[in-house]
Amino acid sequence: PRLANQISAGEVVERPASVIKELVENAIDAGSRRIELELEAGGARLIKVRDDGSGIGEGDLPLALARHATSKITSLDDLEGVASLGFRGEALASISAVSRLELTSNVTDDPREGWRVVAEGRRMEPRVTPAPHPRGTSVIVRDLFFNTPARRKFLRTEKTEFGHVEESFRRLALSRFDIGWTLRHNQKTLHQLRPGDDGASRERRIGALLGNKFLENALHLDIEASGLRLWGWVGLPTHSRAQADQQYFFVNGRVVRDRLVAHAVRQAYRDVLFHGRHPVFVLYLELDPSVVDVNVHPTKHEVRFRDGRLVHDFLFSSLHRALGEVRPNSDA
Ligand code: ADP
Ligand code: MG
Repeated sequence: PRLANQISAGEVVERPASVIKELVENAIDAGSRRIELELEAGGARLIKVRDDGSGIGEGDLPLALARHATSKITSLDDLEGVASLGFRGEALASISAVSRLELTSNVTDDPREGWRVVAEGRRMEPRVTPAPHPRGTSVIVRDLFFNTPARRKFLRTEKTEFGHVEESFRRLALSRFDIGWTLRHNQKTLHQLRPGDDGASRERRIGALLGNKFLENALHLDIEASGLRLWGWVGLPTHSRAQADQQYFFVNGRVVRDRLVAHAVRQAYRDVLFHGRHPVFVLYLELDPSVVDVNVHPTKHEVRFRDGRLVHDFLFSSLHRALGEVRPNSDA
């Protein structure tokens, strides 16, 4: 129980974007190749995540909504090198406690099969009912915070909430090029991203998510040394201020906001930045999972490297070298 408290300290459900993140991480864990997101009213009215992953069997459906029933971690040691994104076993329980949730799933290849469980607030309908679904899972979350008016009041405008959703979506879609993604809002398809792990497919996705302007001005890099690999795109902030927050850094596929990383990046950019502009980048650091702890914090944005110095120096020198090849665009 102490361990459970330790790793579930943070609130999972803050706003629609955090629901999206948890549901999509589950879909990724289930080995999905396609993930479809649909929202209404910024996610306050409806959030639907549909995947084609391994599914949840009839008997496991109620368990999936039960708090901590599924935690994969039994000791602190397991926190190191944990491979799957989910490890607390409480996201679905927390979300269902503050919404009207429907979980439908099928573990077979027969689309006439499938089962559904429904929960409203803390009440779960005891019955699991037949509900046809292709192999995979759909989670529908309606009326987020309907039973917690104080939290409902905390939600911002539809536009703001959907902005956060889009940001979550960008990070998730940038973390897995091999998965196909769809994002719909208020019946409009905003993104339809085909899967593909080759260079051209990746660039197509970068362009779709971050704009072709970014791509045109970015430098592609791919550097490997001492068991570390850094690849991605670094750009110079030559254009609008709208790009100020286009900074994405992934460690072994997970988005990370980390001080050591930020410091190395800032140092590397120091000579090429002009006043008041922000660097733009999408970078992927890959290293042996056993030398990095990505679960330091419940929201999993921080990391702890076994050899921080090595990582810092590698990041700095790789980026510094790459940035030396781009000339500052003098439109200032
Ligand atoms: P966690 O992901 O931390 O285990 P969750 O509450 O997010 O906890 O999910 C509970 C469990 O339900 C998961 O461990 C998984 O077994 C199952 N599950 C949830 N979503 C899916 C999905 N989209 N596909 C397959 N299984 C799922
Ligand atoms: Mg989960």
